[in-house]
Amino acid sequence: ILTAHRKDPRRLVQILRAAQSEAGWISPEIAAFLADELCMPISRIHAVVQFYAFLYDRPVGRYRVLFSDNIIDRMLGSVALRQHMQRRMKVGRGAVSADGLVSIDTTSCTGMGDQGPALMINNRQIVRLTTRRIDEICDLMRDGAPLEDWPSHYFTISDRIRRAESLLGTSYVPGKALAQAIELGPQGVLDDLRRSNLRGRGGAGFTTAMKWELCAEAEAETRYIICNADEGEPGTFKDRVLLNSFAERIFEGMAIGGYAIGARHGVIYLRGEYDYLRAPLEMKLAAMRQRGLLGTNVLGVPGFDFDIEIQMGAGAYICGEETALIESLEGKPGRPRIRPPFPVTRGYNDMPSVVNNVETLCKVVEVMRIGGRAYALLGTKQSTGSKLISVSGDVARPGVYEYPFGVRIQTVLDDCGATDVAAVQISGAGGMTLAPHEFGRRIAFEDVPTSGAFMVFNRSRDMFEVARNFMHFFAHESCGFCTPCRVGCALSASIMDKIAAGLGAQYELNELTRLGAVMRTSSHCGLGQTAGNAVADTLQKFRPDYERRLMAGDFAPAFDLDAALERARQVTSREDAQAHLEGVA
Ligand code: SF4
Repeated sequence: ILTAHRKDPRRLVQILRAAQSEAGWISPEIAAFLADELCMPISRIHAVVQFYAFLYDRPVGRYRVLFSDNIIDRMLGSVALRQHMQRRMKVGRGAVSADGLVSIDTTSCTGMGDQGPALMINNRQIVRLTTRRIDEICDLMRDGAPLEDWPSHYFTISDRIRRAESLLGTSYVPGKALAQAIELGPQGVLDDLRRSNLRGRGGAGFTTAMKWELCAEAEAETRYIICNADEGEPGTFKDRVLLNSFAERIFEGMAIGGYAIGARHGVIYLRGEYDYLRAPLEMKLAAMRQRGLLGTNVLGVPGFDFDIEIQMGAGAYICGEETALIESLEGKPGRPRIRPPFPVTRGYNDMPSVVNNVETLCKVVEVMRIGGRAYALLGTKQSTGSKLISVSGDVARPGVYEYPFGVRIQTVLDDCGATDVAAVQISGAGGMTLAPHEFGRRIAFEDVPTSGAFMVFNRSRDMFEVARNFMHFFAHESCGFCTPCRVGCALSASIMDKIAAGLGAQYELNELTRLGAVMRTSSHCGLGQTAGNAVADTLQKFRPDYERRLMAGDFAPAFDLDAALERARQVTSREDAQAHLEGVA
């Protein structure tokens, strides 16, 4: 493993993943060996292992089961299915069975919201779970059957493309867009991209041409094009479809970027949950090399060398943030960097780097195909082109829908067969919660921006529980770097639990609002800044879902204060009335 990774400490995450897939977990012996071989303190190994959810510093079951805990999976019955499996396998949540055969736990979201409930087992995804399938899986695990021998249809994941426009609906000729780029020349590509006004599809909407220009202008011998394939936003799965069925466009978009900014190296950072896509992607990369679309002298152009490698994530949502992603690529815990410097001047390996979303790179191919001016005519003035939307929840037809920017929320709801809708959560857990009076709004950067998640909740749903699930998601995924987010998310989640337990009062609602404001204004990165959005939106628009849980009084403790003092009484040998709360005057 070390040889394959050139004993490069910057590949620590990849090395640990490979070591774990051999040994099952990162034992103290493995950690010490790696620290020695890679000449780094063992504390760094521990820090990395403890940061990533899919790296383990303690033994896990030979079958490692992780149920997707996204709110949509929950709505589809994932909690009952997990408990059923736990009963059958006689193992608690987060524990390993006594015989070491199986461990069962949850993970935030596996990117299968259109075909849940879903689980991962030893990095393989299984979707459309039912009680019957859980029983079959239990039997297979008890028999010790290797995953390769399990029925192949268990692992079948559909694209579910429901509506296609300029990206999903047009044919593609490999190399044509790249040839067009070469004809334009590097500056011509940047000019055409600027004319298209293409904006990043990851959510922030930064102009792609400006990003590329800044990187091209930075003084350096080496530059990188990085594809952010770490879509971890709950309710998002459209990049999964692009990676599965449109991968060549992603590669070609990266090659065009490499040509325009003078980069020879491309890296795809693929989320750990999409491990099953890695082998097919590698095969498609090899085919691209054979066609002369990657490698040396690409398309016969002397000196145009560009190739792509895939690096895997390991279960950390925050690595979707571009500087956290770069930290992860460099073998560190994925904590967002302080900016400036920005990645376009000092990114991966301290070199100028462009980080683009999967969908954005596909769009680059489209711009080259039809030209920047024609592209700018699609969509709206500030949001050109089309947008892929991942639709899930209470709809008749979940899946991926492509629309020109500017589409109304109601149009999407009509198309996916949603009825009696109470709310739509746009752009994942940190996005906007829209109520019916807002369904006339448009998906566009100038109105409702989105990275692509579109979760639908009908009137039978409890929006308090939706917001509670999102707050637990953020409490789990906060990287812990800054206090407002680390403490704010954890406190907010525990306040939501207190309200759920019927112990909340008006005081708790005020606290949630206050904490949300602190997180929004003081957190270091977008995760903390947006973590309180769903609570704020649902408090305002679905307040009865909170208020019907509140007690009449102003405040109630979430636990028994007197009982909590028992240990102190023992230590001080006191049992008199004054040592009890009710004894205090
Ligand atoms: Fe980490 Fe949260 Fe701070 Fe972002 S806001 S750096 S996720 S602790």
